[in-house]
Amino acid sequence: MTATISALLADSTTELTALSGGAAGVDVRALLCHVLGQPSSYLYTWPERKLTAAQLAQFRQLFARRLQGEPVAYILGYRDFWTLRLNVSPTTLIPRPETELLVEQALAVLPATPCRVLDLGTGTGAVALAIASERPDVTVVGVDLMPEAVALASRNAHDNHLSNAHFIQSDWFSALSDMNRFEVIVSNPPYIDGDDPHLQQGDVRFEPASALVAEESGLAAIRHIGQTAPTYLVDGGWLMVEHGYNQGEAVRAAWKDAGWPDAKTQQDYAGLDRITLAQRL
Ligand code: GLN
Repeated sequence: MTATISALLADSTTELTALSGGAAGVDVRALLCHVLGQPSSYLYTWPERKLTAAQLAQFRQLFARRLQGEPVAYILGYRDFWTLRLNVSPTTLIPRPETELLVEQALAVLPATPCRVLDLGTGTGAVALAIASERPDVTVVGVDLMPEAVALASRNAHDNHLSNAHFIQSDWFSALSDMNRFEVIVSNPPYIDGDDPHLQQGDVRFEPASALVAEESGLAAIRHIGQTAPTYLVDGGWLMVEHGYNQGEAVRAAWKDAGWPDAKTQQDYAGLDRITLAQRL
């Protein structure tokens, strides 16, 4: 059986939309591009082109996995974040576009001179590597509890030719010496409450709970980071974390108790509370 690009796009998108909703077209195009080894523009300029039998078989196999709910990023093994292509695996969270706000804010407060950044719970290394790519003069240290994440982030540094980012296994700050002081500490920690129905839907069902779920209504990791970070920041250094759209007030309250009275919350491009940041004065 043969199939044209346009027919496959239309049929597969309809089939997937019934199951997973709005982003089905994006997912189908990503799988098709992967199978064809072409950029997405090809799908629009060659809609009548037919896939070879081998390409069609491969597409059907990948699409069947997507129909089972598996995230496209895990099927393909990569996800683009910032300007980087990152290897991903089911042992790490899939980098999300809204997390680019954390990168932008870190870059905005970083001193213009060579300095140091710490990324807590680095996962694929997405935030650490994006910062490292924009600031070759800055040393970025990314830590993660999971050895698999440390290995993956190191591989991502290598594949993106970023030699100023380094990854170590650590339970938050545990492997650091308090001689280590950073100008900026960033984190996209787990912040979802274990009972949140969001965890039963879509891609998150396939992602590691350790990267998503935290105790204390999702605030345990953010609270721990707020309490411990001052020891590891230079005077004037910045702490910033990503959190849920409805957690801004709770994060500021938790950090106030930890000695950060002036924390501010910023919204992402969807207009939702997304990160809270504070300066050590
Ligand atoms: N924003 C992600 C989600 O809602 C969660 C990311 C995280 O827990 N750090 O799926």
